[in-house]
Amino acid sequence: MSNVAANLEELYAEVPPQVSLVAVSKFHPSEMIREAYAVGQRKFGESRVQELLKKIEELPHDIEWHFIGHLQTNKVRSIIGKCALIESIDSEHLLEYIDKESEKAGVITKILMQVHVAQEETKFGFAPDELIGYFKAHRFENLKATHICGIMGMASNTDDEERIRADFRAIAEVYRQIKEDDSLQLRGFDTLSMGMSGDWPIAVEEGSNLIRVGSRIFGERLY
Ligand SMILES: *Cc1c(COP(=O)(O)O)cnc(C)c1O
Repeated sequence: MSNVAANLEELYAEVPPQVSLVAVSKFHPSEMIREAYAVGQRKFGESRVQELLKKIEELPHDIEWHFIGHLQTNKVRSIIGKCALIESIDSEHLLEYIDKESEKAGVITKILMQVHVAQEETKFGFAPDELIGYFKAHRFENLKATHICGIMGMASNTDDEERIRADFRAIAEVYRQIKEDDSLQLRGFDTLSMGMSGDWPIAVEEGSNLIRVGSRIFGERLY
């Protein structure tokens, strides 16, 4: 037995009630997911399509899977209809592709737009201005089978708390600018996903209502 149940319990004692928790189970075996499931956890996050599909087969059907990794268009079809939320839409091309495939499959796919503010060049996502521009131009109105539920973002990978806070604040600002623009008439745009094991308390202070926590629950990942 691992400490998964105890870690979760500790975490839930700290997370405010208005904040949802995705347990990021990538690279961890299905048995550990079962331990979290047994104590009531239902939202799990995965970043690789093959691994996600294998776990969907093995695990209970009422799990809400969040896809949080970079998604290639050639893998879209295999996960359509299987995820509660795809959090990592990092290009308009990917979004349009998901919309087309969702329509074909007769499902509505819920997604978050990933915004990039962190220092690292390797992180995916829309630049803040690009994302605001996408909404102001009302391009989302062309979507037929995709529901944009909000925004996901990551802070720079650093120990500098002020930097982390500034990154989360910048992401939250993009979220608010879009959400509070009445001319857009967005419905169900209410999710701000920010914060991981090392930085979620700062993210919550800056307005996050969905955190994605992995190693704090499941331990270090063996890549
Ligand atoms: C891996 C991952 C997490 C979880 O990271 P931890 O530091 O283990 O909590 C959260 N979000 C994304 C997008 C990830 O890829």
